[in-house]
Amino acid sequence: MKAVVFNQHGGPEVLRYTDTPEPKPGPTEVLLKVKASSCNFNDIWARRGLPGMEMILPHISGSDVSGVVAEVGSAVKTVKVGDEVVVHCGLSCRECYYCTHGEEFFCRDFKIWGFQTGPLDGSHAEYCKVPSVNVIPKPKNLTHPEAATIPLVLVTVWRMLVTRAKIQPGQFVLIWGAGGGLGIMAIQVAKLFNARPIAITSGDDKLALCQRMGAEFLLNRTKQDILQEVRKITSGKRADIVFEHTGAETWPISIQCLKWGGTIVTCGATSGFDARLDIRLLWNKQQNYLGSHLGNKGELIDAMQFVETGKIKPVVGKILPLRELAHGQDLMERNAVLGKIAIIPE
Ligand SMILES: [Zn+2]
Repeated sequence: MKAVVFNQHGGPEVLRYTDTPEPKPGPTEVLLKVKASSCNFNDIWARRGLPGMEMILPHISGSDVSGVVAEVGSAVKTVKVGDEVVVHCGLSCRECYYCTHGEEFFCRDFKIWGFQTGPLDGSHAEYCKVPSVNVIPKPKNLTHPEAATIPLVLVTVWRMLVTRAKIQPGQFVLIWGAGGGLGIMAIQVAKLFNARPIAITSGDDKLALCQRMGAEFLLNRTKQDILQEVRKITSGKRADIVFEHTGAETWPISIQCLKWGGTIVTCGATSGFDARLDIRLLWNKQQNYLGSHLGNKGELIDAMQFVETGKIKPVVGKILPLRELAHGQDLMERNAVLGKIAIIPE
């Protein structure tokens, strides 16, 4: 089959569109014919290489897919050949204390499919395999490229805002990177809970997209003083929730924009990992600083019902053929696409 493989870490130039053996599903796994995959920042971390993360190369990235079941393992009972499915990308043992408490990300065997390496080759290929427990039905109202852009960002945002930050109606939610995949999803989930999204991004096209997706307030980080604007919008109270995923660059402003008793929830740090924290804020202002990582399959199933009813919509900014994945990653690293990038094998 054709796949995009890398043999060494580096920039987009290390990605090779090449022939590689088709994966063979084990007894509890299914083989999927990939109809579409999508780009996530995970792919870029894997390609660059992360200190402390052991990787076995060559590797195929890709943690999101929409496809058709082509083959099922001998022990698979819940999925059949021909089913159209998407994938929850959290892999774990499903048997330990944490897995049986719905906290699979604390499992000693927890891995993100397509991100970590070895037997976990992902979706940027013509075929891929996953445990049958990880597939869920593709929403019928979406095309394959649309469906492929949903699960990873949706489960991540759902866990951040719903499970961790416990979003409530009327709350002001300050959203960084609001024109990207995570940000657009955060706007939609905030609206779903009748909260009041304040979208921060740059560029008129991104601001217009945020408005279309339901952002109540729009801030241009290149032209406006974010703290002053947040003060005005919230009548001086500041944000109830700050949705963080950019890290070092935005963290100081996030803290300033957070109200007393408010919550910062973060799932990443694309601009750097080191940030300063004044511990006085923790006890004096009683603020909450929450980490969040992916989500569990149950959270994804809860969230997907709003995709099926059209309340949460995919935003596909670009569709590229598999051979141009390197170009797609370059666009993503330069933050040059509105919404998500879908990849089609052809
Ligand atoms: Zn486990």
